[in-house]
Amino acid sequence: MKDKEHQNSILYIEDNPANLRLVEQILENIPNVHMWAASEPHIGIELAKEHLPDLILLDINLPGMDGYEVLKNLQNDKACRDIAVIAISANAMPKDILKGKEAGFDSYITKPLNVKELLQIVESKLK
Ligand SMILES: [Mg+2]
Repeated sequence: MKDKEHQNSILYIEDNPANLRLVEQILENIPNVHMWAASEPHIGIELAKEHLPDLILLDINLPGMDGYEVLKNLQNDKACRDIAVIAISANAMPKDILKGKEAGFDSYITKPLNVKELLQIVESKLK
């Protein structure tokens, strides 16, 4: 873990306000983490480029542009391409998870969220 001076930052791109709130509350269990939230994909991509977060959590079903397109955008950006991106999706079939891994997501978390799983994965990516 980084010291107090060096906050970890996480960007969560998600159009469902209840999920945004839930994840924000879960992440409060990790010390020194700041979370940015974006409910629209375009805003999420802009925030990623502007702040270069340590980790991005990305919903798949988003308005206008899906999570795969957002991921592609990030992968095509020199500054953003090395940021770990975790998919968080209600699409929970094995083929969905395989598709996510093949697209380049670091991890694929399915909804409904398992708090313990989310914390474990996020903490492992921040180290
Ligand atoms: Mg959604």
